[in-house]
Amino acid sequence: TTDASSVSSPTARSEALFARARAVTPGGVNSPVRAFRSVGGTPRFIAHADGAYLTDADGTTYLDYIGSWGPMILGHNHPGVREAITQALQGGTSFGAPGEREVQLAEQVTRLTGTERVRFVNSGTEATMSALRLARGATGRKFIVKFRGNYHGHADGLLVEAGSGLLTNADSLGNAAPSSAGVPEDYARLTLVSEYNDPAALDALMAARGHEIAAVIFEPVVGNAGVLMPTPEFLAALHRVKASGALLIADEVMTGFRLSLRGATGLLGLEPDLICWGKIIGGGLPVGAYGGRADVMDFVSPQGPVYQAGTLSGNPLAMAAGLATLQALEADPGLYARLDAYTAALAGGLREAAREAGVAISINHIGSMLTAFFQDAPDGSLRTYTDAARSDTAAFARWFQGLLARGVYWAPSQFESIFVSGMHSDAELGLTLDAAQAAFAEVG
Ligand code: PLP
Repeated sequence: TTDASSVSSPTARSEALFARARAVTPGGVNSPVRAFRSVGGTPRFIAHADGAYLTDADGTTYLDYIGSWGPMILGHNHPGVREAITQALQGGTSFGAPGEREVQLAEQVTRLTGTERVRFVNSGTEATMSALRLARGATGRKFIVKFRGNYHGHADGLLVEAGSGLLTNADSLGNAAPSSAGVPEDYARLTLVSEYNDPAALDALMAARGHEIAAVIFEPVVGNAGVLMPTPEFLAALHRVKASGALLIADEVMTGFRLSLRGATGLLGLEPDLICWGKIIGGGLPVGAYGGRADVMDFVSPQGPVYQAGTLSGNPLAMAAGLATLQALEADPGLYARLDAYTAALAGGLREAAREAGVAISINHIGSMLTAFFQDAPDGSLRTYTDAARSDTAAFARWFQGLLARGVYWAPSQFESIFVSGMHSDAELGLTLDAAQAAFAEVG
């Protein structure tokens, strides 16, 4: 027999799956933000995805602004990517020995990004973790610097003042507490924290401790506190850290191949020593990578003494998906301008709708990344995690639910970027702005 109340619910199947999931998986999800903790309601269990749309287990279709948290810049189920994976699949799923696709993707990535060497891993977390080990191995130093509210994955030394998780205040010498249980103070002690967009603080930290710092890692555009843009003064201070012998590591896991074919590094004219990638580089399959100058990268084993390995690294299906994605991006030179135009129009429409409804929002956007912060601040003025954290998360949650009820799946947290894909066009913009207008009316 079927429970009559569940039959009438549009989320009955997702609710049932969520209950089953909670019985066998912590919190019912394999990555925390998927559980809708900060917005409430039932996380939708997705059955399939196509173009700009997700379809859940109850058969409801949603316009998707998550894009799997970044990888799906071409939209879901892209024919070229699907074809490449299907073709690779015919030849076996994993070799544990080198193959041509790894060489092709490495050639493609180094050519597009202006790096000399690249090593493939299986996630963004592995990329940043490995790049930091390399920096320590290459410099013989043990401290690293990261910025408050920047997220670089869940490796021990990086879960310190990381994104919207638990935040404590770093002291003036950069000492801060872990933002997760299970991270020993001894690891956190090696991670110094500075404030994003505060060049004076970074200069002071480097003046005091530069000689013992192996690397400074940063998000060139922050996505993990919501979208925050770096100031030119801050970017200049970042480049000054090299003078102390520390390596500058740009974490382009989110921005790489998204803000341009050369990522934020190309767009903003940055000159990092190392770059980390993830998300788009795998076209929706699990790939991360780190790369940079040959003289630094040659410290990595088996060339050098810094050990780093992976059973599935360079996996043929994952390489095929990454190759097809980068090829499609390169074959469509107008794509980035279209993504930009869509996102700018979205920002403009949201501002107008919020103003009409009397809801305070402040929008930060660049390329196909956007965050609407629910607070009364001028657009573009929010620059640090402290700024972002003043947002009205309850108002955001109501707006999120209003969008979801109208078939628009926004990022389920105030402190995230949304991601526009090449499959978002005029129809999707109209649908979004209609839904947003109605949802703003319900916020107040
Ligand atoms: N670095 C940045 C900037 C990210 O946005 C993320 C993930 O969101 C990571 C690293 C970690 O990547 P992954 O989730 O693939 O481990």
